[in-house]
Amino acid sequence: MEFLKDIHAFEKRSHTNILKYFENLVQSQWYSNDKLKELQENKLRLIIKHSYNNIPYYHNLFKRLDLSPNDIKGFDDLNKIPILTKSEIQENYKKLINKNFKKEDFIQNSTSGSTGEPLEFLMDREMISWQKAIQLRAFKWADYYPWDKFAYFWTFFPENDNNHGRIFDPVYDKYNLILRLSCFNLTDETLENYYNQIINFNPKILLAIPNPLYFFSKFLDKKGYKIENITSVITNAEMLLPFQRELIEEVFNCPVFDIYGAREVSLMIGECPEAHNKHYSMETAIMEIVKDGESVENNEEGELIVTNLTNYAMPFIRYRVGDVAKRKAELCKCGRGLEVIDSLKGRIDDYLITRNGRFIPGIFFPAVFAYHKINGIKQYQIIQKELEEIEILIVKTDKFKDSELIEFKNIIKKSLGDIRININFVDEIPSKSGKCRYTISELDLKLF
Ligand SMILES: [Zn+2]
Repeated sequence: MEFLKDIHAFEKRSHTNILKYFENLVQSQWYSNDKLKELQENKLRLIIKHSYNNIPYYHNLFKRLDLSPNDIKGFDDLNKIPILTKSEIQENYKKLINKNFKKEDFIQNSTSGSTGEPLEFLMDREMISWQKAIQLRAFKWADYYPWDKFAYFWTFFPENDNNHGRIFDPVYDKYNLILRLSCFNLTDETLENYYNQIINFNPKILLAIPNPLYFFSKFLDKKGYKIENITSVITNAEMLLPFQRELIEEVFNCPVFDIYGAREVSLMIGECPEAHNKHYSMETAIMEIVKDGESVENNEEGELIVTNLTNYAMPFIRYRVGDVAKRKAELCKCGRGLEVIDSLKGRIDDYLITRNGRFIPGIFFPAVFAYHKINGIKQYQIIQKELEEIEILIVKTDKFKDSELIEFKNIIKKSLGDIRININFVDEIPSKSGKCRYTISELDLKLF
């Protein structure tokens, strides 16, 4: 198949192993849970040893705690290592980098994060390969194959619609497999246009962000439009609420597969086709659920703490993702050995509304931070007070530059129109029950 030849050629050029790892993952999902746990503990011992020998931060930490790599043999020893927070990563950034890697071994990445705290990190090519491979497996559960046509309703900026830097994009483009639709400009006119584009393009899969997709679904429902040929909708990047899933499944007349990813730690949680249970990628990460510093029992909710088993450039061990999860005690009836996550509370975003009636999903802001590389912001929150006014709370770091702030304001004005932007620097963002909502609308959204 020509397409696969091109993908292989791409992999050779970029020194990645995505398809090989994907094939491994398709096998290992059926391993017994015990075998998967054994595999995790083997990988854990390797990354611990590596971190002690090559990562100054961990070497010093182990010395300080009087630990040797041999003291961490498995899951039960993990709590000997303290939890790693985003602030600690930002403060110890250089010390977390593999001192024996060369510059060309690193690829820089960033995540908008789940709690309004953007984070930059470095990865190696192994991690990229695993990351894309676990994504492909979660997509495969939704019956997606890399050569399938898909519509991508995502955070595309109008000035750069075609290149989002996603890894196989050049090959997808060559074979006309991808339709990109920006979710930043939601009006009846754009949605009508998107509907027509989807009908003409005739994709098999739709990949979208829950809030904007729900908005689109309401539009389709109101108009009585039907999209017949899409066989699965994949949602990602925000929390999908049950009423949203219900309407999306009705309007698109197909199942929704909700996935969750924490890219910085190679964690992917996808839904199996048999039971729509959420399985986590045990081959690439170890998940702990922790409350007040202690592991909780299964079926109990707690903070999500993840150890990345794939990144030798900048390993994160026991990293606090910032989301809340619950692990099921039982395995899934589908037969996969991968453990099941029962509930997952991630980000929820409000919309912002502009004076000329456009809806901007809250995910716009983390996308701006990541895409336009605005640095020096530790945490932020956006509040729409009135139609003409938004307030932005920022906790800055010492890397913060005023010139970037001006650029940031300009980007917002380009999308939101002539709106008053009040920026307030604060020491911390007020949170409700430990969880930060970071796009908040104080408008009565029902009126719009
Ligand atoms: Zn299952």
